[in-house]
Amino acid sequence: MEMKKVNSIRTPIYRDSGFWLKDIPTMKKAFADEIDHPADPDLYIYSRYRNPTVVETEEFLANIEGASWSLLTQSGLAAIDIALSIFQNQKKNGKWLFFSEIYGGTNSFIDKVLVERRGFDIVRFTPSGESYSIDEFERIMKQHMPQVVFLETISNPMLIVADVPQIISISKKYGAKVIVDNTFATPYIFKPLDFGADIVIHSATKYLAGHGNLSAGVVTGNDKELLKKAIEYRKLVGHMISPDDAYRLLDYLKTFHLRIKQHFSNAKAVAELLNENPLVEKVLYPSLDTHPTNGIAKSLFKNGFGAIVTFDIKGDSFEEKQIRCNTFIQKVSDSIHLIPTLGDAETILMPIEPVWGDKYPFPGMVRLSIGIEPVETLIGILDKALKH
Ligand SMILES: *Cc1c(COP(=O)(O)O)cnc(C)c1O
Repeated sequence: MEMKKVNSIRTPIYRDSGFWLKDIPTMKKAFADEIDHPADPDLYIYSRYRNPTVVETEEFLANIEGASWSLLTQSGLAAIDIALSIFQNQKKNGKWLFFSEIYGGTNSFIDKVLVERRGFDIVRFTPSGESYSIDEFERIMKQHMPQVVFLETISNPMLIVADVPQIISISKKYGAKVIVDNTFATPYIFKPLDFGADIVIHSATKYLAGHGNLSAGVVTGNDKELLKKAIEYRKLVGHMISPDDAYRLLDYLKTFHLRIKQHFSNAKAVAELLNENPLVEKVLYPSLDTHPTNGIAKSLFKNGFGAIVTFDIKGDSFEEKQIRCNTFIQKVSDSIHLIPTLGDAETILMPIEPVWGDKYPFPGMVRLSIGIEPVETLIGILDKALKH
C-alpha cells in the first residue's frame, strides 16, 4: 500500500515498530549509516533505534538548548544512565565524581547500579555548609583525578546553585568530562553546554513536559562522537521514548517559554511572601539575598531563579515543627497536593524530613514546586494556610 501524502506541518505519530526498507541496497545503507543522525526518511529501521516522530521532538529540543543534538529517553533516569554509561570503558575505568546534593533517584542509581553492580569507584563531593567550596572541589579533583564529574545546576531540595562554569573549567584542567543535570534550572535561564559541559541531561518529566502527566528524559550535547555512543547505548538497553509520548512532549514544548516564565515569576513572588511571614523560620530561594548562593545565582541566571521554593516553619521543638508542618499540609490540601514530583503546572508540595530523613532532619521544612496559576490565587492560598 502506498502512503497518501497529506499537507500537514506536523510529523504524524509513527507507531511502526519497523520501517519499510525498499530493497537490499537501501537496507544495507540503512544498517551501515544507522548511527548517523538525524535520519534520512528512507533509512529508518526499527523504532527502538530511531523513530521519525521522536526525531522531530529531538530537533525541537536541541533548538531550545542551542545544542547540536538531543536524544529522548523514556525517563530522566534513563537519560542519566546513557549520559554516564557512554563514558564507561571496562579496561580503563577510573574514578567518577558525583556531587552529593543531587536527585535521590540518581544517588540510588549510583549506589545500587554503578557501585554495587558495576563495581565503580566513586567519590562524592559535599557542600561546605550551604554552598560549594571551589577550593575544596579543586583539592578533590587533584587528589582523585576522576574521569567524569556529575552535578546539578540547582540542587534538590536545598537549592544550592553550583558555579557551573568554574566547576567545568576546573574539571577540564584535570581532564574530566562533565555531565550537568539541568532539570531545575532549565535552558530558559542557563545552558551548561555554552560553558563547555560535555553532556546536559534533563528529566523532561518536569518542566519540559510540565503537566505532571508524561515521563521522559533528554540527553543533549554538541560532540558528534558522544552522540554516536549515546544512540548506540540507547538502542542496546532500550531506553527509547514512545512515539506517542514524543508527540505529546512536542506539543508541551511549544508553550515551554511561556510556562516557565510564569513558573519562575510565581516562585519569586511566593519566596518573597514567605520570607516576610513571621511563622516562617527560613526560606530557601536563590533570588533572596539571604540565600548562601545568591551571588552565584545572580551572576549565572538571566531570567529567573527556578520554581522550587523550600521553606522552614517555625516551632520550639522537633515535635512542634512536625505538627505545624502537617497542619500546613492539611490546610492547603484542597488546592496544593502532596505529590512526590515537581515541575507540574499546578503547585504541589513535599515535606522534607519524611522523604530525606537524616540527610535533612528539618521537620518543619516543605518543598513547594510552584506552578503556573495566577499569582494572586497562589498567594491567597498560602497566606491563609500560614495564619493557622
Ligand atoms: C526527577 C528528576 C530526575 C529523574 O527523572 P525521571 O524522569 O523521574 O526519571 C533526575 N534529576 C532531577 C533533578 C529530577 O528532578
